[in-house]
Amino acid sequence: DAEVVLVGRSNVGKSTLMREVTGHTFDTGQRPGVTRSPNHYDWTGPDFMITDLPGFGFMKGVPEEVREEIKTDVVRYVEENAEKILVGILVVDGKSVVDIIDRHSGPDEIPHDVEMFHFLREVGVEPVVAVNKMDKVDDEDERLNDLCDRLGLYPPWKQWQETIAPISAKRGNVSALNEAVRHHLHEAKRDDL
Ligand code: GDP
Repeated sequence: DAEVVLVGRSNVGKSTLMREVTGHTFDTGQRPGVTRSPNHYDWTGPDFMITDLPGFGFMKGVPEEVREEIKTDVVRYVEENAEKILVGILVVDGKSVVDIIDRHSGPDEIPHDVEMFHFLREVGVEPVVAVNKMDKVDDEDERLNDLCDRLGLYPPWKQWQETIAPISAKRGNVSALNEAVRHHLHEAKRDDL
């Protein structure tokens, strides 16, 4: 079966999204840094497996070196399994992602989300950015265009619907993500013929 991985900073809504796409129950608000190993599940309905990887980035009460270890583990898992992994879903918080990126952009700093996006591409895993919590965002188009810009994708975002998927996991509104992932699965199947 094809494998899809789910990556993202902690608190962006990964557990909520996992629950939505697998039908499993997960502890949301789990103690950060506890879910350390990859967990595999079936995506509801069809033919692929989704692997939940630990959240990275800032977590209250988790020391810097542990955060670094978590991120290294995530990167290593993706690198080692890149050949099997078709799509990497990078979950971000639509309300805050652009501000966080801008705050952490500098001469010797690359924001986690931007780094992860380019890393996925470099290892040949198609990135799909699940822009979550869109229920909290008013200026949807502007926000998504800004995000494209920060990721090096030429706006408008509507040109990138296979890559940028605005969702609200909490409201169960994940159709854009379903479509984006399915697009890449179909492409991959075509390439196999
Ligand atoms: P994780 O740390 O990435 O697994 O994040 P969780 O799934 O635990 O979610 C973190 C917080 O964001 C929780 O309070 C969720 O209820 C909330 N959340 C998740 N998805 C959404 C969403 O689509 N919209 C809103 N408004 N809140 C969300």
